[in-house]
Amino acid sequence: MITVLRIGHRPFRDKRITTHVALVSRAFGADRILVDEKDETLENTVHKVTENFGGSFSIESGINWKKEFRDFKGIKVNLSMYGVNVDDRIESIRKITEGKDIIVLVGAEKVPIDAYNIADFNIAISNQPHSEVSALAIFLDRLYKGKELEKKYEGKMNVVPMEHGKMVKFIPDEQQSMKLLYESGSDERIVSHVTTVYNLSMAIGRYARADMKLIVAGSLLHDIGRTKTNGIGHAVAGADLLRERNIDESVVRIVERHTGAGILPDEAKKLGLPDRNYIPETLEEKIVAQADNLVSGKTIVTLADTIDRYRLQGLKEPAERIKKLHKELSEVCGKDLDEIAMEINS
Ligand code: SAM
Repeated sequence: MITVLRIGHRPFRDKRITTHVALVSRAFGADRILVDEKDETLENTVHKVTENFGGSFSIESGINWKKEFRDFKGIKVNLSMYGVNVDDRIESIRKITEGKDIIVLVGAEKVPIDAYNIADFNIAISNQPHSEVSALAIFLDRLYKGKELEKKYEGKMNVVPMEHGKMVKFIPDEQQSMKLLYESGSDERIVSHVTTVYNLSMAIGRYARADMKLIVAGSLLHDIGRTKTNGIGHAVAGADLLRERNIDESVVRIVERHTGAGILPDEAKKLGLPDRNYIPETLEEKIVAQADNLVSGKTIVTLADTIDRYRLQGLKEPAERIKKLHKELSEVCGKDLDEIAMEINS
């Protein structure tokens, strides 16, 4: 665990640069930042970035920096132009910090001499004066040997790397999902059905400790393709519609794979569906598919009701797959999905 300790922060002057220290900490692999002066605006800005772009980076401001630095259980580094050059110490720091926590102090204006005396290492990124932002970035990059740049975040907004132009895929929240539904022409019948699927998916998702932002978007949007067709192709139509609107693949796939407990490749071929994977794979894909199986119109039904309905249509194998998925998810939840459904109904 890496903590960055930012000292000498003056909320009225340093808002932008301390925000950058925090963003560099997060993007270059640190886990949290402590800032000496209380600054709620700064905290909110950093929380918002983490909420949107993912990860578990945290911030705390208004702390006693000397106490935090002195009492820190782990390796203490002070970044300063007066220190020993990074390349002469980085190997020993890497070795000594293996399996240990590390705290990295960066200053704003003049750094008190206590910081130099408490530190295990006073490290310079060249002995020329520059900036806490660059010093921190280079130190973390050297420490991780560049590997921190490969970290995956999976936030609500995910940048798609592009040679030209720019693209961000996003996971819509409840309000944005409802807006998408209405904008694409969903009627009250679709909205009342997806609302019930949403309620059941949320209940199952909580038991299963699923990623709830995916459950929200996936359940509300799973039938958006019904604005184009009510046939077997509505999941594909919905997925295509969402891809056009830059919705993240993690949500699009929930929509694309929600039919029954999935459609096997040979079945998909017979049904004339495009050559794609229609089997739910992630926990969230499975939850929304099965919640939908347990909702008829706007009413929650039992597994037995659903199986009967499938069998009556001659869909024996798909019925078996639904049974299997029900069992799998009930095990994950530690409770039968029919019982979870009853909790909503009562
Ligand atoms: N003269 C100040 C001092 O007491 O160190 C310099 C403050 S400088 C504007 C702000 C911070 O940038 C420093 O506390 C240090 O963390 C970082 N910094 C600037 N130049 C650096 C360098 N060459 N190597 C390491 N850190 C540096």
